Parts: sequence; C-alpha cells; structure tokens
Amino acid sequence: MANIPACAIGLGSNLGESLVILTGAIERLKIHPQIKLLDVSSWYHTAPIGPPQPDYLNGCATVETSLSALELLSVLQSIETEFGRVRGEVWGARTLDLDLLLYSDRVIDLPTLQVPHPHMCDRAFVLVPLAQIAPDWLEPKSGKSIATLVAKLEDSDVKLVR
Ligand code: ATP
Ligand code: CA
Ligand code: CA
Repeated sequence: MANIPACAIGLGSNLGESLVILTGAIERLKIHPQIKLLDVSSWYHTAPIGPPQPDYLNGCATVETSLSALELLSVLQSIETEFGRVRGEVWGARTLDLDLLLYSDRVIDLPTLQVPHPHMCDRAFVLVPLAQIAPDWLEPKSGKSIATLVAKLEDSDVKLVR
C-alpha cells in the first residue's frame, strides 16, 4: 500500500475480561475495510496511572490505513464503545482505551486530537510494547526512535503476560 500512512495504536484495558476485550479490539481493526493490520505486540501487565484502580493490560498495534487521522480516531472510539467503554473519571478504569499514538510522521494539534500522543514518550506501558514492533520509528516531535525513547525511561515497570 504505497503512500498509505502507517499508524501506531496503543491499547489498554483494566475492567472486565481484558485479554478477551483486547484481542476482540484487534479483530475489529483487522476486519475494517480501510485498515490493514501490520503487527501486534505482546500484552503486558502494567501499573495504573490516575485514581486507584486495577492493573492494566497494555499493548500496541501498527496499521496502514487510507482513513484520515480524525476518521481513524472515530473508528477507535466506536470500537471502545462497542466494548463497553463508559466515559467517567479522567484516567479512571475502563474496559478499553485505544489511543492513536503515531500517524506516519505527522504532527497534529487539534482540540480533539493530538498526534503524536502527548504522553507517549514518558509512558513505559506505551513504549515497551511499541519498541517490540516498531523500534526504528522516529517519534516526530523529539526526532528520537522508539528504541532510544524506551532506553531513556527511568521506570519501566511492565511485565510480559505469559
Ligand atoms: P490519555 O490521553 O492521557 O492517555 P485517556 O486515554 O484516559 O488519557 P480519554 O478519556 O480516552 O483519555 O480521551 C480523552 C480525549 O482525548 C478523547 O475524547 C480524544 O478526543 C482526545 N485525544 C486527543 N488526542 C488523542 C489521541 N492521540 N488518541 C486518542 N484520543 C485523543
Ligand atoms: Ca490513554
Ligand atoms: Ca484514550
């Protein structure tokens, strides 16, 4: 798919049957006619940020898509809703969170969409799985590769699910 942007998506869940929900979300991406799933990381147990809540399962996927970034965000939000996401407390527990991490080398700064995802460079639960499938991708704001960013993390308390 020449000239079709490659994107990175972060997935997380800490309510319900997280592994079933995350694999279901991957399946939804796979069957979307305008999305081609490229790669999926392993799943990791990670500590929550925000209010007290259960640990998360997190992972990342890379896709190619002919959708615009806003269209892709809208698809991600409808998959979240399908899997029972209810918007409550900021950073609160959720059945499914799908964040658009990277959209090719684009920098987007809209009220409803910032890409690269604003916190991705500080988050082990994003960088560790992403480094597994896209270590050489350059995060466009820092110009650093995902492998470089993950090596800079002070705290990378994420555990591979076995
Ligand atoms: P965080 O963004 O810090 O990971 P969160 O995932 O809990 O927090 P949400 O409640 O899922 O935040 O999303 C809040 C809003 O963030 C969404 O309604 C969406 O418009 C906006 N948003 C901005 N940039 C992005 C992005 N890159 N990916 C997903 N949502 C984004
Ligand atoms: Ca998030
Ligand atoms: Ca989100």
